[in-house]
Amino acid sequence: MSYPRVIWSENKLLHNAAVLQGLCKQQGVTWVPVTKLICAEQEIVTSLYKKGYTSFADSRVKNIKSIKRLFPQSFATLLRLPAIREVKEVVLYTDCSLVSEWETIQALDEEAKKQKKIYQIILMVDLGDLREGILPNELISFGQKILKLAHIQWEGIGTNLTCYGGVIPTPNNLSQLVNLKELVKDKLKYELKIVSGGNSSSLYLLPKCRLPQGINQLRLGESLFLGKETAYGNKILDCYEDVFHLEAEIIELKEKGSVPKGIIGKNAFGKTPTFQDLGIRKRAILAIGQQDVYIEGLTPVSPDIIILGASSDHLIVDVTMYQEEIKVGSIISFSLNYKSLLILMTSPYVMIEKNY
Ligand SMILES: *Cc1c(COP(=O)(O)O)cnc(C)c1O
Repeated sequence: MSYPRVIWSENKLLHNAAVLQGLCKQQGVTWVPVTKLICAEQEIVTSLYKKGYTSFADSRVKNIKSIKRLFPQSFATLLRLPAIREVKEVVLYTDCSLVSEWETIQALDEEAKKQKKIYQIILMVDLGDLREGILPNELISFGQKILKLAHIQWEGIGTNLTCYGGVIPTPNNLSQLVNLKELVKDKLKYELKIVSGGNSSSLYLLPKCRLPQGINQLRLGESLFLGKETAYGNKILDCYEDVFHLEAEIIELKEKGSVPKGIIGKNAFGKTPTFQDLGIRKRAILAIGQQDVYIEGLTPVSPDIIILGASSDHLIVDVTMYQEEIKVGSIISFSLNYKSLLILMTSPYVMIEKNY
């Protein structure tokens, strides 16, 4: 076994998926697992696919390519707006893209023609968060042009909130999206199939039945993997927040003072650190660092362990109060937030293992 490693529980993951499935189904919403947080890790994707979740969304073509290699029959949606330079791979490996630029839609149409395909798009509308999307008053003129393209199938409209501007999805701003679908029906005589009402930040509306009628899709990552809705950061009822945890190995364990001796200059990251004198403390150095994880997003599973700091590849923790017997080679566990899991999953130095 090698460390550091991220351990994940299949039971907890599938439990969370089932909870989301129940919440969405009761209101006529389908949800798509978003795999970017876990870099479309093969075993995780496999475990979801085998349970019947066969549609995935990811922001990177590379991740989707690996999903398609495993499961050619899966349906894959690209979440990040395609770059003009990647339309060839986009049409080759993905089934649908979220889009907002006319040039890109045209390029997708041309490429789909070359590849003898009909390619699906979901047109993004910016409802105020100021990340991607056309403005609502451009929808009809965009739609007119899209409907003339021979190799593009206009599947739906969607929005993304909370990611950049922090705008909370509400019955008010989300019903705008439903109204826009109706507008397309009236003005263009075209029935859009999908009204995609956002990410894990829209979930808090579901238990209260406040998601506007007509929103029929959500794209869910953080809620699936970390059991949280992201509008207010609350745990979703019955979901596990600890599908994943981190284990790292102690490579030094010594009693030392709590204030460095000597003239204090700048540390590895250009900051001048300050210290409080707590006397002699028992300190452990773990073999993991800033290169592998976002330290501020780690929480020791034991409340008796305190994170003191980290450089690129050393994490220093205070274990003075820790009751367990530990020695060099012992393992310390941490729970993870979104950013720490994201960076861990991206680090080639970190193993990922299923906990059987
Ligand atoms: C990342 C992303 C999602 C999923 O967001 P979560 O908060 O992880 O549920 C949905 N839609 C888009 C466009 C995204 O980029």
